Amino acid sequence: MKKNESLTGRCICGQVKYRITEKPLFTQACHCKDCKIITGSSYVINTSVLDNTLIIEGNISSTELKAGSGATSKAYFCTKCGTYIYTDYASAVGRLTVRTKTLDNSESFPPQVHIFTKDKDPWLKLTDDVICFEKMYDPKKTWPEESLKRYGEYLKVINK
Ligand SMILES: [Zn+2]
Ligand SMILES: [Zn+2]
Repeated sequence: MKKNESLTGRCICGQVKYRITEKPLFTQACHCKDCKIITGSSYVINTSVLDNTLIIEGNISSTELKAGSGATSKAYFCTKCGTYIYTDYASAVGRLTVRTKTLDNSESFPPQVHIFTKDKDPWLKLTDDVICFEKMYDPKKTWPEESLKRYGEYLKVINK
């Protein structure tokens, strides 16, 4: 992503549009049971961005969710069509998690890891070169150096 270039995305009815003003940090696929129910599909793909780089246009509503692990999050939807645009996980300080497939050029953001593959649908085959984790993973060992550095510096700025 070049400087001054934004990523764009939208809901299915077009009422909500958004921009991401800086390169996202990381993209992951999750096969856990919660993500299956939320998406009504086999897995979700999420892209993590710094929370000051997501600019939403249009009306969104939110609801608080509790994961099987007990972790809480806020899910944000288009008020008209219900497209799930992003999540604010309580544990992900300074970050928001955008539903990757709502991006206009989502094909440019393939999952960098697949997590909770213990719950992966048995008929779904992942290729050998895909990085998989049975459950969670450690971002410090998995994220690109550049993303870790940028996130670390942002945490210092927001003092968390
Ligand atoms: Zn909509
Ligand atoms: Zn999940």
